[in-house]
Amino acid sequence: MKCSNCGGTLKKHKENYMYKESGLDNVELIGVPVYRCGKCKESMVEIQKTIELHSVISFLILTKGNNLSGKEARFLRKNLGLTAEHLAEHLGVTRLTVTRWETAKKPLNNDRDRALRAFYTLKRNNQLAQTPFIKKLIEFIISNRPTNPDNPKLRIPTEEFFDCATA
Ligand SMILES: [Zn+2]
Repeated sequence: MKCSNCGGTLKKHKENYMYKESGLDNVELIGVPVYRCGKCKESMVEIQKTIELHSVISFLILTKGNNLSGKEARFLRKNLGLTAEHLAEHLGVTRLTVTRWETAKKPLNNDRDRALRAFYTLKRNNQLAQTPFIKKLIEFIISNRPTNPDNPKLRIPTEEFFDCATA
């Protein structure tokens, strides 16, 4: 691979990387491929499977102990593709209130924090169900579900699941 800046050769390294592009300042990716130019020191980070990665980050944020920070609240909203207006409308607050939470001008109180997490958890689960391999897996399980209505077994084909997940 050639450097887009000087045409030099890029070398691949594995590095730890603070994932600031996420909008969060405490996410470190361990051992990500970084392509660095030997000539001008230009570098390019390769972040793969961002949908899954953002899902994992969302999960970690949603299950943490203390209240959400403004940056975390914004990450969750953006990751779910929601506008501040949509969120404000759903929670019965103004758009300005949402902006104040996210810029940490007025931190979330406990009740709002719980309401936000419940809302995001629901949205996130719906979104996960739309993730191609999870969607495929769910469709497969449903189409193969035994018709016995009393306590049918939940048969989950892990082999297909992991094959799809890593494809
Ligand atoms: Zn270069």
